[in-house]
Amino acid sequence: MLILLGIVLGMMTTCLTIILAVGMVAYTGLYLHSFSVFFIIPLGALVSGGLCGSGVYGILFLAGRKPTFVHHLVAVFLGACGFVGIYYGLYATAYVTPDMKINHMFQGEHISNFVYSDTGEPVTFASFIMDEVRSRTTTVLFRVGGGAPSIVPRVGLGSTINWIDFGIEVIGFLLGSTIGGGILSERKHCARCQRYMREWTLFSVILDNLPATVSALDNVLTSGVQYREFIKRVPSLVPPITEPHARFDMVYCPRCYEGFLLIRFMRKKSDGSFEEVENYRKTIALHADVVRQVIVREPAKEPV
Ligand SMILES: [Zn+2]
Repeated sequence: MLILLGIVLGMMTTCLTIILAVGMVAYTGLYLHSFSVFFIIPLGALVSGGLCGSGVYGILFLAGRKPTFVHHLVAVFLGACGFVGIYYGLYATAYVTPDMKINHMFQGEHISNFVYSDTGEPVTFASFIMDEVRSRTTTVLFRVGGGAPSIVPRVGLGSTINWIDFGIEVIGFLLGSTIGGGILSERKHCARCQRYMREWTLFSVILDNLPATVSALDNVLTSGVQYREFIKRVPSLVPPITEPHARFDMVYCPRCYEGFLLIRFMRKKSDGSFEEVENYRKTIALHADVVRQVIVREPAKEPV
């Protein structure tokens, strides 16, 4: 049942992706699905493929189920459908104006009514794709001196490079279609309740304050001190945080409230952003009572 729903929703997201990609070409001339970064990373294809597969994984997320091999297979199939669909959509919407300009706005006559001037062959879907690849005008994104991304048209590259580029685009679509599955697989899951767990950042402290904070937290967990009292006294950092720190994230099941606390050590990178030193991560199991105390934002009303 769930797989059927996934297929139906996946077909819908795939159709929307095709409409979006073909619409982009028609209205702006941008081949969004062919966008690549640093010449080889098929970002547009990855995102487009991801959108095609998102319906399958969206249903799984809502139902709290983990993806299986079959789901990935369906997603890859949808990614392939999306890829063919976009090119078919470009062919189906390719019209030629009286002054022989190709457009995707239905102006003039459909391209299938034309023949190539040199060979006299009709323009079929297959020859249209060959032509698309040979005269590819993809755009690449790259950063110039770390500034804003600029869009540089790439034209006149050799046809071998164009075919490699096209091949990378196919791979991008197929890989991209399973991105949603990758995200779901990474996400913590409560096997008992069949729910995806939620994650919530509680607070961050500078490393000097870490030992005192952990021992105070230990009191909450072992001797029943109220979390609400504890959180008032935590020397929590206020954004924007500028120094290395420890971040306390709570992960919990929205149904049974069993969960755990992740203490992440955040190191400052050269560009000023933070990344976790994963080797130092600490995990502390949390009882459902503590989780309930934390997630109830409004304190219970005092009895009169
Ligand atoms: Zn649970």
